[in-house]
Amino acid sequence: MQKYELTPHTTTPDDMLTTRLDKLVDYFKQYGINWSRKNSLWPMPFATACCGIELMATGASRYDVARFGAEVMRFSPRQSDLLICAGRVVIKMMPVLQRIYQQMCEPKWVISMGACASTGGVFDTYAVIQGIDQFLPVDVYVPGCPPRPETLIEGIMAIQRIVERDGVRGSTQRGKGMGLVVQPTVQLALDLDNRTTQEAVA
Ligand code: SF4
Repeated sequence: MQKYELTPHTTTPDDMLTTRLDKLVDYFKQYGINWSRKNSLWPMPFATACCGIELMATGASRYDVARFGAEVMRFSPRQSDLLICAGRVVIKMMPVLQRIYQQMCEPKWVISMGACASTGGVFDTYAVIQGIDQFLPVDVYVPGCPPRPETLIEGIMAIQRIVERDGVRGSTQRGKGMGLVVQPTVQLALDLDNRTTQEAVA
């Protein structure tokens, strides 16, 4: 029977150099590119109905989405990487929305904002798309009718977490989208008489 002798691996200076370069590239990808990308999302707003007003409120001074680096709403898909679909989409409009998505830069993400965009909402008719995820890869669903700006911000933060974890993989590699659902935020009302806070009735 043939005997195999294990010889210890000797490290050469070249090995060390390769290892260190790999580590440097990984580190740069993880903490450089992903960090920059997650804090500089450029949304493409596709607001067709009342949810669009909440989207506008998210960009205004009270909620100030600039705190998350996502205030640069580009009305050109070629300069955007985050599609926010706010409102119902009718069948005739879907090819336009798909064209916009195709024209966006890679890597790109999609938020479906509100009940109408995600499920058709109360518009259970032949003309309204019953969920844009039948035609687009949705990464985050933001529930509500309409969702409050805080909930949309939750959705943007969910996209940031995807970018941080998932890196800069293109949409074709990511398949049908992540399909995460964020929870509506709880509103607290201030009771000045009793000096307490309580959950506000929406
Ligand atoms: S989900 Fe509600 S608020 Fe949003 S577009 Fe539909 S009806 Fe309007």
